Amino acid sequence: MVVGPLEQALDYAPTGIALLTGDGCIRWANRRLCRMLRRDADDLVGLALSELTDPNGPNDSTDREVSADQLEIGQMSDRGRLRFLRPDGTSVWGGLALSRLPDEVSETVMVAQINDLSALMRAEEQLGMVVQGLDDGIVTFDPHGRVASSNPAASRLLGIVATELLGEVSQPDWAMIDEDGEPVAPQGRPEAMVARTGEPAHQSLGVPLDDDTVRWLQVSAHPIERPNGERWVVASYRDVSEHRRVEAELAVSLAADRAKSEFLSRMSHELRTPLNVVLGYAQLLQMDDLAPTHRDSVDQILTAGRHLLELVEEVLDLERIKRGRLEVVLQPVPLLDALREVLELVQPLADASIVTVELRAGTEPEIMAVADAVRLRQVLLNLLTNAIKYNRRGGRVTLAGREIGGMIVVRVRDTGRGIAPDQLTRIFLPFERLEADALGIDGAGVGLALSKRLVEAMGGQIGVESTLGVGSTFWFIVRAGVAGKADPNPPPIFEPLSPSAAADLARRADGPRRRLLYIEDNTASRTLLEQLVAHRGGFDVVAAGTAAEGLQLARETAPDTILVDLHLPDASGEDLLRELQADPNTASTPVVVLTADATPARRNALLEMGAAAYLTKPLDAAALFVTLETFGQARE
Ligand code: ADP
Repeated sequence: MVVGPLEQALDYAPTGIALLTGDGCIRWANRRLCRMLRRDADDLVGLALSELTDPNGPNDSTDREVSADQLEIGQMSDRGRLRFLRPDGTSVWGGLALSRLPDEVSETVMVAQINDLSALMRAEEQLGMVVQGLDDGIVTFDPHGRVASSNPAASRLLGIVATELLGEVSQPDWAMIDEDGEPVAPQGRPEAMVARTGEPAHQSLGVPLDDDTVRWLQVSAHPIERPNGERWVVASYRDVSEHRRVEAELAVSLAADRAKSEFLSRMSHELRTPLNVVLGYAQLLQMDDLAPTHRDSVDQILTAGRHLLELVEEVLDLERIKRGRLEVVLQPVPLLDALREVLELVQPLADASIVTVELRAGTEPEIMAVADAVRLRQVLLNLLTNAIKYNRRGGRVTLAGREIGGMIVVRVRDTGRGIAPDQLTRIFLPFERLEADALGIDGAGVGLALSKRLVEAMGGQIGVESTLGVGSTFWFIVRAGVAGKADPNPPPIFEPLSPSAAADLARRADGPRRRLLYIEDNTASRTLLEQLVAHRGGFDVVAAGTAAEGLQLARETAPDTILVDLHLPDASGEDLLRELQADPNTASTPVVVLTADATPARRNALLEMGAAAYLTKPLDAAALFVTLETFGQARE
């Protein structure tokens, strides 16, 4: 063949080019095509294009046979992808485009352009694999809203066979419902909205299933603007059923938890008032000259009542901590004093349980723990009580407190039955008792949960080490404080009234009679106080049920002491105190607060406002009388 300047130029074209005769045979092929098909130019001459392609292989092309008759003169035709075979048995994908020349140039009737599509096909194949393997369903829609492609996950999630999905006419018409269970028409779904607006759209939609359940899908649709101006849509479908189920379960359990908390907290409040009355009357009886058996019964009532009250307080504390309403006042607390005090408190229980309790030597007297004095004792008391309760007869409890590197470490070691390793974390959960119920050991499973929260509220940590059959060591750590800065008057713990203290109290007060005004809306509390005071003697009690009534009585009767509750139906304790202070008749009368609100903030606020003393319920007769002695001096 004569190689003219035209062929020379085409020989270096960056794409495969062949010049064809009218019946589709190659007259000449350029270098790029020879390299692509791995043949010499001479070998290609005379071959029809159809002889070079795989007759059975997957060809996208509609027609492998090429002849000039198929084309108008001057027309170009895109013939799609063909798989070309190479002499070495391999193959290559080529994109074929043909054009028919207007005038025959020697024997050349057609020009064939063949692009090497291998790289593109590989990339497509990889992308296809990714899409096929996705858990999310992916569907593309053509500009007419027909499904152009979909992956297996889409068929599975939408409950539709892939072939059904393809070519779906005018937007997807598979059934879908909204959050209210109402059917959502295809035009209202994200896929159709994107096609209209060109903006991405998202919505949670449900696919009703045969078993009457619903598969919830997060549908996200995005526009794809093609260079030719067409707008395609790609939509993804993510199964969120499990996620929603877990969310729903969580919501139910949170609601149940809240309901339980509210119930406990309300019950505890409700229990506290009658319990205070029971304890008050028992204390009153204790002051009488009782026969030994009756004295015993009263002691029993008091012990059990105080135990119940403690439990109620603990449950309330737990709830307060949970709601962030428990306040701790951190100050340097002398550690040795706290340890000794608590040891003394648990001694009767230790004696009764035949357990030896000892304080290890080595706690320096000047060591200070940065803690809330009352709460520190409460934690110590819990740990020591447990160490005795869960010990064996003849067992031992060792208490030790040390300062190590700026930290106070307190350890309570027992020789009890120990705790299994898998249960060590559970014991700090509220109401967890392990086998204690089965063993017949009293308790409610609140102490450790509360201790943990208290220690943490004081900025510390609590933990336990245990060996089954050998014993357990509970420890906690709080910061160490600077000696000398301790509060000289940490709030006291009122010990249960001992028989001798009761006898002491029973001594009738003598001297001039004094007037006491008690402002309290709870009738039972009023009657109790009246009887307690009457028993002791020395005071005439006047009582009021509202702040207004109280103010009037205060002016009329000029009491020596006024005792007020903080929750009155017509005013707060603070308002009442202010009014009493503002009136010249009552401004100098000591006002003692008696309330169930033991929060340090309230206590400090009222003392700062000028309250003479702040007593908390349960009413402790001894504390009340000491206070009345101090502030209730009869005025001349
Ligand atoms: P309670 O003693 O009222 O049950 P706690 O919260 O104080 O509640 O303790 C929770 C559980 O942890 C107890 O029921 C008991 O099974 C276990 N426990 C606590 N202290 C010890 C200890 N020193 N030795 C063995 N078991 C203990």
